Amino acid sequence: MKITAVDTHLMQAGARPDLKRAMGADADFRGSRNWLFVEIETDEGVTGVGECSGWPRVVEGAVQDLSHLLIGRNPEHIDRIWGQLYRSMLGHGLTGTVGSGALSGIEMALWDIKGKVLGAPVWRLLGGAIRETVPVYGHAHTADEAQALIELGVGAIKTPFTGIVDLDRVAMLRDAIGPDVDLAVDAHGPSWMSAADAILVGRELEAFDLLFYEDPVAPENLDAFARVRDAVAVPLAAGERVGTIHGCRELIERQLVDVIQPDTGRAGGITQMRKIAGMAEAHGIMLAPHSGSLGPVAEFAALHIMATVPNALLLERIEFDWPGRYEVVAPVLKVTDGAIGLPRTPGLGVELVKDAIAQHPSIRNVADPPKDDGRAYVQGTADEASHVQMRRSRARRMRPSSGTKGHT
Ligand SMILES: [Mg+2]
Repeated sequence: MKITAVDTHLMQAGARPDLKRAMGADADFRGSRNWLFVEIETDEGVTGVGECSGWPRVVEGAVQDLSHLLIGRNPEHIDRIWGQLYRSMLGHGLTGTVGSGALSGIEMALWDIKGKVLGAPVWRLLGGAIRETVPVYGHAHTADEAQALIELGVGAIKTPFTGIVDLDRVAMLRDAIGPDVDLAVDAHGPSWMSAADAILVGRELEAFDLLFYEDPVAPENLDAFARVRDAVAVPLAAGERVGTIHGCRELIERQLVDVIQPDTGRAGGITQMRKIAGMAEAHGIMLAPHSGSLGPVAEFAALHIMATVPNALLLERIEFDWPGRYEVVAPVLKVTDGAIGLPRTPGLGVELVKDAIAQHPSIRNVADPPKDDGRAYVQGTADEASHVQMRRSRARRMRPSSGTKGHT
């Protein structure tokens, strides 16, 4: 069997409802979110699909540039091909999540081909399933959104800090969901958040019995991360911004996190995800793959991975997403009792609906800067400089929970 073609399908994805609300009704959300699917064809008529994240519009060029290394190769030799592609990027200084994003979609598609050739779902080729269903967690800003997730049986809910530390919302959600549903907070690792302030916030969060506190500071500064780690008695999570075992190594080896969150579309592929999970397992760290702006093909790959690693915690899931998500692939994954059942068909178990994808051509892949909404920043002022946002408006950005000490 030989690879005969590598095709890319880049599309514009609409906004999640929470982003729409955060940015204002007139905002152009079509500017920010792209999905990139890869399709690898063979001379025996078997086709594999994968998905890349890590700046999809740029990654598309990377995949196309790498494709000449794939044409004519036997797709069976996944690790050998991966190694050659990886080495081919060394001369570019590797390329962060753009390079590992390209590797991810290609490697995913090779696994899809292998599964189809062998007549087995990928999880069967990865050692078999430890679990038949993969539990998910969802995103909520409001009690109503949390309730909608709980009605689906979802056992854990995450809420973001977007431009402001909103401990009142954490307190409200903890009240709304009660003590038996897990709650997590994603601080998004803003560049303006100092370790000192992240520690103050983390100590306030200790009262809410969190599943994890995600990216309390920019994870690019692991020493700042370590300061938070040492000072706060809340489980920490990170990993969405890095690719491959090398990107996750220090987070795991220094035991800076309790939960590692590689992104299935940019961690480097299914095997890299499983290696990261193995490194984490040896350190008592759980795996909870990042979803974020990911599309629906990578979600299938995540299920196969989560089925086969012992330390799988939860899969992040944008449950109430842009409706187009459910039109561009088949079948559609459904959450039942808070979990998704494993695909049973050979390969990844997902196919592209190309007509639907073609209806959403990519326009651009960077977000418009947010307008002044009292939370992010004011354009055209010094506040626009990311590193002074918190420092020059700390009083309104650090909002402690009701009843706790500090300003109100
Ligand atoms: Mg995050």
